[in-house]
Amino acid sequence: MQNIAISDKHIMSSPTKSALLSRSDLESFTAHLQNSQRIVAVLGAGLSVSSGLPTFRGAGGLWRNYDATSIATPGAFRSDPGLVWMFYSYRRHMSLNAKPNPAHYALAELARRKPEFLTLSQNVDGLSPRAGHPAGQLKLLHGSLFDVKCEDESCGYIRQDDFSDPIVPALAMPEDESSVAEQSNVRPNQAIQAAIATKAALIKGLDISDANIPIPTIPRSSLPHCPNCKTSLLRPGVVWFGETLPEAVLSDVDAYFDEVEPTPQAEGRNKGHMQSKKVDLCLVIGTSSQVYPAAGYTYHARAMGARVAVINMDRSDARDLREGDWFFQGDAAQIVPEILKSVIGEARTSEVAKAG
Ligand SMILES: [Zn+2]
Repeated sequence: MQNIAISDKHIMSSPTKSALLSRSDLESFTAHLQNSQRIVAVLGAGLSVSSGLPTFRGAGGLWRNYDATSIATPGAFRSDPGLVWMFYSYRRHMSLNAKPNPAHYALAELARRKPEFLTLSQNVDGLSPRAGHPAGQLKLLHGSLFDVKCEDESCGYIRQDDFSDPIVPALAMPEDESSVAEQSNVRPNQAIQAAIATKAALIKGLDISDANIPIPTIPRSSLPHCPNCKTSLLRPGVVWFGETLPEAVLSDVDAYFDEVEPTPQAEGRNKGHMQSKKVDLCLVIGTSSQVYPAAGYTYHARAMGARVAVINMDRSDARDLREGDWFFQGDAAQIVPEILKSVIGEARTSEVAKAG
């Protein structure tokens, strides 16, 4: 099997960025993509890693010794809203300083070329919208860091596309006065140095994900309050662990999967006689295809005829593949534009203007 290096020699020297695509896989994928109309993509945090955004999950990825699963919960917000808001203020700040990468732009372009392409994103970082991904073809399963809503559901207040940073003065990132990052005597390898530099550029101040950096205790009165009921706090408009996915988003996704072929003889009859539209292709990018909700949508698309292509750094994600599927291992930012090139050409990479 002949391999094609999709990156130049310079990038190939870095083990974290190398990507080898098998020529036969690329050819069979390309042929199928060109004939595909109904395409579903399921996106996860791996898509935004090249943009410098951490996931706060598992070993080495903690925020102040907290795993995201313990701090991104309604219970954590009830008991310490200041700490939870600081976590989200940090993530809003980093996401605003990050830029969409070539994979975000490539998927946005694919959406323009294929009107029946629907993207289901688990990412809350706002990078797909900023890459100009058509809003009607992008379903944000977990909400957005830039939506804020009243913590009291019966109030119902929600504000979208709030890009203010900080959202209130008390949630500003502390300034870097001592250059803490330079105090270490350890000389990390090139890849780690590059990652540290990327992160520092996004933070532009002290990295409060490090539990050794003190953060202030923020009184409730200084946190963002709901302008509607004027009593409750505003909270990030993201889906927390233990919460259900947004109903409107779920019904849009269901409607897509429930679309039927327009056949003349079925007119006026009940839906049981109508043929569901098949799904041609399911792209699973930067997320485990074995964990909910990506696993559920992948299963659904497969049941409707889709062939599956998984793009991920982690080879363990290739275990569940069937004959006719594809696994492309490596950085989504490099692989996605390459495998979509026959349809999208060279994708543009200029950000759309941020509203607000
Ligand atoms: Zn309210």
